[in-house]
Amino acid sequence: MIKVCKFGGSSVANAGQFKKIKSIVDSENERKVIVASAIGKSDKDDHKVTDLLYLCVAHKKYGMSYDSLLEEIRKKHQAVIDELGLSFDLEAEISRLKDLLDRKENKDEIISYGEYLSSRLLALYLNAEFVDAKDVVSFNYDGSLNIELTKEKFLPFMETRKKIVVPGFYGVLPNGIIKTMSRGGSDITGSLLANIIDATVYENWTDVSGVYVADPRVIQNPKLVSTITYSELREMSYMGANVLHDESIFPVKEKHIPINIRNTNKPEDLGTMIVDSSDDKDSVITGITGKKDFEIISVAKQGSTNEVGFLSKIFGIFDNYDVPIVFLTTSIDSFSMIVDKNSVKCSIYELANEIKTRLECDEVTVSGNLALVCVVGRNMRAKKGMAGNVFSLLGDNGINIRTISQGSDEISIIVGIDEENFTKAVSCLYEGFVK
Ligand code: ASP
Repeated sequence: MIKVCKFGGSSVANAGQFKKIKSIVDSENERKVIVASAIGKSDKDDHKVTDLLYLCVAHKKYGMSYDSLLEEIRKKHQAVIDELGLSFDLEAEISRLKDLLDRKENKDEIISYGEYLSSRLLALYLNAEFVDAKDVVSFNYDGSLNIELTKEKFLPFMETRKKIVVPGFYGVLPNGIIKTMSRGGSDITGSLLANIIDATVYENWTDVSGVYVADPRVIQNPKLVSTITYSELREMSYMGANVLHDESIFPVKEKHIPINIRNTNKPEDLGTMIVDSSDDKDSVITGITGKKDFEIISVAKQGSTNEVGFLSKIFGIFDNYDVPIVFLTTSIDSFSMIVDKNSVKCSIYELANEIKTRLECDEVTVSGNLALVCVVGRNMRAKKGMAGNVFSLLGDNGINIRTISQGSDEISIIVGIDEENFTKAVSCLYEGFVK
């Protein structure tokens, strides 16, 4: 029974947080492998160390001094060292960092310093073994994780009787050069190590007690979800519920290892369990989520429903413009493609025009101001009247539905509405289904 515990930036934000981690880690022997993020924000006006490191790189690039930024980074770590009474040569580390910046060699190595430093300090404080991610976490040249090689390098460390602390967010390419992951990547490191050691649970410690049924910025004090499946979470996170890095699901999912989202500030809360599948029938709805900033491109052409390859030609044009289609709704002889405005790098009108002329369409229109609202729930499957309830709740509240989509797995119902109705829609669905 081994657990991997990943502590996010806010969980290592200051000495007080380090103390909380110690009591969490010491309270269970199973909590053997600890992954740490870089020091994060203590309050909303504070700066994350990773952000400061990115700023250092930018200052260097434009020939500006980064001394005050380095000083801020130094102070944050010094405060932890002083308050916890650690013996650590911070000056040597900061001058190594300065040297890296001066030489401007590998940007990723500079950015990785946040995780490196927080983990060194945490290992010292927990009296644990520090295992540098650069000695274990391995990437292929294309940037994908080399799980086998990481396993080969990491397993020997598991022989130690001590707990192990590994920095998140970075690893090495086959040539030994340090490479960082995308932002929030420490989640991936935790998941990867959980896969490798066949952990019983991957605990992801953060500053919320789990996944909320709805966004707390929209609904006051929403309920917490106790169990959610990986696929439900994927639906929720696409629509804006950001609890975990998307890519962190795959390594644990492969081995059916549950992820437990926990709150470092409230360790008594059991948090949310993210699992492969669940028979728990407590609630029909797992979550209500959504996002603004979508656009619809509608294509109409007489007879196109019977025209072989018509859709594939449309998709080809979207491919050429490098625009992903979020989903597609159809009626006879007309097709509507929904796209996320932020993923459209080209001019949407140019794309629409190309469809119109190349495919000789009767009409191609672009309309914006679209928000998607998504009702997610594995227990909706085969349950009668679910879509009807969604539509009635919206209709009764005077909200017009512009598009409708439900996949055959029946795990979610997504409706497109005018952006100005977004908050109202989420609220009335929450009132109707959850309260
Ligand atoms: N420190 C990195 C970031 O801020 C990685 C992480 O925290 O997971 O994105």
